[in-house]
Amino acid sequence: MIYDVCVVGCGAAGMMAAYAAASSGKKTVIIEKNEKAGKKIYITGKGRCNVTNACDVTDFFSHVITNEKFLYSSIYGFTAMDVMSLIESYGCNLKVERGERVFPVSDHSSDIIKAMVNAVKDKDVEIRFNTDVTDILSETDGEGNTVATGVKLSDKSKLTAKKVIIATGGLSYPSTGSTGDGYKFAEKFGHKIVPTAPSLVALVTREKWPSDLMGLSLKNVSVNLSDKATGKNIYNGFGEMLFTHFGVSGPLILTASCYYVKKFRGREADLSIDLKPALDEETLDKRLVREFEENKNKNFANAVGSLFPGKLIPVMVKLSGISGERKVHEITREERLSFVKLIKNLPLTVVKTGDFNEAVITQGGVDVKEVNPHTMESKKVKNLYFAGEVLDVDAQTGGYNLQIAWSTGHLAGESC
Ligand SMILES: Cc1cc2nc3c(=O)[nH]c(=O)nc-3n(C[C@H](O)[C@H](O)[C@H](O)COP(=O)(O)OP(=O)(O)OC[C@H]3O[C@@H](n4cnc5c(N)ncnc54)[C@H](O)[C@@H]3O)c2cc1C
Repeated sequence: MIYDVCVVGCGAAGMMAAYAAASSGKKTVIIEKNEKAGKKIYITGKGRCNVTNACDVTDFFSHVITNEKFLYSSIYGFTAMDVMSLIESYGCNLKVERGERVFPVSDHSSDIIKAMVNAVKDKDVEIRFNTDVTDILSETDGEGNTVATGVKLSDKSKLTAKKVIIATGGLSYPSTGSTGDGYKFAEKFGHKIVPTAPSLVALVTREKWPSDLMGLSLKNVSVNLSDKATGKNIYNGFGEMLFTHFGVSGPLILTASCYYVKKFRGREADLSIDLKPALDEETLDKRLVREFEENKNKNFANAVGSLFPGKLIPVMVKLSGISGERKVHEITREERLSFVKLIKNLPLTVVKTGDFNEAVITQGGVDVKEVNPHTMESKKVKNLYFAGEVLDVDAQTGGYNLQIAWSTGHLAGESC
């Protein structure tokens, strides 16, 4: 049996690639090492799957962190609206939430997987589960070009296909099957792999005090990430963060992490938290003066209770250098002003990120300079295509990463 198209990986990119290829009548097979489709989709969006983002297409690119221009053809060619209407047409109704994030009405990611499995089955795509692709087969044509001809499977058999699409994902959450196999396949053909790193991930700090606040979530704070060496600002954001046993996490920090990974990889950065972004220093000082007036005979530690959540008070008092037992009326103006500065600029030093086991995505991957952005075909190997997270593309949270997988997958399948 000679297949027209063999897709390696039954994740978001792989299923969409197979759907697109089979829609134009190509005999298509997906090879998946897991026992079922879309293991990673299942855990996305905390089990709800933020399947895409319904923002304007031009706005989409402002959320892409790496290689946005490479994505123009694929994203314009198969937009969030296209994904939504396809998924809905295969039985999963969708809703748009805050920030244009799109979820299944049921709030169950399994319904997205079911819809995509329905879609590929509808187009007669064959899926082989529990089967690893161990190698990509190739030969040299009459003009000296390397041409992909199929794949080698874990049972040592060979599968012949006219076109091969690598949609094996990145390295994050390896338990879902994304173990970086696509990079090895690409490297074998001389493709450059941009060094990989976990991204959209928690940040580890040099300071140990965040562990005292483990589990504490702060809403409506802003953070500022800057280069320790030059002071240059890298990221500013506003939202919700969380303290962990080794540093910081939460939506705001995950977004900050992609800029940290992009610019710092392995170096130190300053992370400053503004606990009261709505108040400037002068207004905050006036508020503190009021609190101190009302509590002048109280201990310092007991006088600042209205400013922070209870768990944060001992940490703030300790970091201020003012004894918690000092009477408020003994605190000098300089001490008060330096406390204001601490509230507006709670300093942390980021030393590294969490690892791939907890990272939402992988930064780095197959260098897009060696992939045709209009077809997703390798510029080094004829009839070999790439789609999804295996490529050196990534974006912020909000449904953008799945959209990249859907769009690049669709383009690769269509091009086949
Ligand atoms: C916890 C978590 C939450 C997330 N939430 C969201 C979200 O809500 N919205 C969003 O947009 N993005 C989210 N993402 C990111 C998103 O899931 C990925 O960007 C996307 O799934 C990538 O799709 P992919 O098809 O390229 O790769 P994958 O989904 O990783 O699929 C690759 C497939 O290839 C298979 N495979 C690998 N190697 C082989 C081989 N040698 N042989 C056979 N099969 C192989 C794997 O088993 C896997 O099934 C989340 C990620 C994580 C980890």
